[in-house]
Amino acid sequence: RVAVVGAGVSGLTATKCCLDEGLEPTCFEQSQDIGGVWRYTEHIEAGRPSLYPSVISNTSKEMSAFSDFPFPEDFPVFLPNAQLLDYLQRYAEHFSLREHIKLGTTVVSIRKHPDFATTGQWNVVTEAGGKQTSHVFDAVMVCSGNFSEPSLPLHCFPGIERFRGQYFHSRQYKHPDVFQGKRVLVVGMGNSGVDIAVEASRVAAKVTISTTQGAWLLSRVFEHGYPWDMVLNTRLMSLIKTNLPRPLSWWLINYKVNQRFNHENYGLQPEKSCLVREPVLNDDLPSYILTGRITIKPGVKEFKDNSAVFHNCPEEEPIDIVVFCTGYNVSFPFLEESVVRVENKHASLYKYVFPTHLQKPTLAVLGLIKPFGGIMPLVEMQARWVSRVFKGLCQLPSQSVMQKEVNEKKKNQVRWFGLTFDEVLKTEWLVYLDTLASFIGAKPSVLGLLCTDPLLALTIFFGPCSPYQYRLRGPGHWEGARQAILTQWDRVLKPTRTRVPAGSSSSFSSLLTVVGFLLLLAAVIFAF
Ligand code: NAP
Repeated sequence: RVAVVGAGVSGLTATKCCLDEGLEPTCFEQSQDIGGVWRYTEHIEAGRPSLYPSVISNTSKEMSAFSDFPFPEDFPVFLPNAQLLDYLQRYAEHFSLREHIKLGTTVVSIRKHPDFATTGQWNVVTEAGGKQTSHVFDAVMVCSGNFSEPSLPLHCFPGIERFRGQYFHSRQYKHPDVFQGKRVLVVGMGNSGVDIAVEASRVAAKVTISTTQGAWLLSRVFEHGYPWDMVLNTRLMSLIKTNLPRPLSWWLINYKVNQRFNHENYGLQPEKSCLVREPVLNDDLPSYILTGRITIKPGVKEFKDNSAVFHNCPEEEPIDIVVFCTGYNVSFPFLEESVVRVENKHASLYKYVFPTHLQKPTLAVLGLIKPFGGIMPLVEMQARWVSRVFKGLCQLPSQSVMQKEVNEKKKNQVRWFGLTFDEVLKTEWLVYLDTLASFIGAKPSVLGLLCTDPLLALTIFFGPCSPYQYRLRGPGHWEGARQAILTQWDRVLKPTRTRVPAGSSSSFSSLLTVVGFLLLLAAVIFAF
């Protein structure tokens, strides 16, 4: 019997993966429906994430799908939040998850059962309609998300107490009309900051973004108009990134991200060039900077009554509204610190999932990770691994081995093709997926496939690493996986190629590209 905390993206797939392994999940959801962060509500609910209605997914539908459930082909390539919720609802219906979900039920506490050392069980207390109930579970999957508790570090902004304008955290933002005719300052250049600045600039008198570090800005519409993640998250690219010498890989990244526009000229260049930050995904910002709708400034030095002063800038900027887009804190109020300790917005977990010091591996945290790619296939892979660990079919290494790896990770030293992530939770998407897939025997073998199914092998290696690749073999093998991989581009083109006759697909030219690539590769190998 497994308790799943939360019925968002992670909780839904956790429930499904438990069922796949013959476990008995009970999923507790404090709000009145499933969907987590993707369930938009006009009113902000305490303890729940809060979206603004214009949010569109940052990763494409083919790279965001659960691995045995592709998005409908007529859905747009990047998904407005309502359609993402629709997909999650279809997933829940298709795999009959709803009967395992208890809505309106808050998990109040999770404590070790007195027999924990031998049974690994947990006492779980839930509350529904003002009534508390105690349960005993054999295992727990924590899927409560990490976008509910805003991080508002006002102490970092001297003078904010005397600022006479309005200020609020991005979690509070819903509609741009609050900015009508105002001079707006957006603090923080993450994805929320840029989204809100772009929206504000359509109605505001002036919009300024203050960024301490700068960021690489990618466009959803990437090379040749293809989705960015289908171009960048391929096995070939991953091989190049992880094997090139540092100067070369750094030059390659610089070249790629500056191809559309020069970040330095737009005031966006990341400050520490060896620090890998989460790229910001926005198609509008460069043109909005170019047309003067948005101005980029350095970090805030101090606030005055009606203005802000920036580092290295002598003149004050008059401001009416400040939006702090300063991200979120991580917390698990129902867990004891001795079980999962959060420090500096991360927790010390083996492979971002398992506490390292428990006598029994019966508690797992899902989704506490920031990959450079779609989160949904990644939490699904975590859930597949965790449910097999709970079942006793996969073993974890010894506590000391796990602890050593966690400590190494915390040092956050140079590890990703010569560069350092700016946060412990950041990780390389494909490498992480492959690692967990290898634990459960679901990692695709490109070389093996080259002999038996060369078309599939080439598509897997040169094409996007779509999640269906992890259903070709091993536990949870899905009959439809091969077909889903070979038709992934059809589902991308279907909602956009609406004026071109159906037959004129570009598969022949794609095949030529692949053959060309192969010839090139062979030439390079023979040249050496
Ligand atoms: P975030 O990515 O955590 O960014 C917060 C930013 O706040 C930092 O990058 C930093 O920006 C600034 N900041 C933090 N602490 C600060 C301090 N003490 N002083 C000054 N500045 C500080 O937060 P977010 O933008 O809200 O995004 C949260 C997550 O949601 C991200 O993973 C994001 O990708 C995701 N998201 C997705 C979408 C979408 O799918 N469309 C939309 C929004 C958010 P500077 O370094 O620039 O100063």
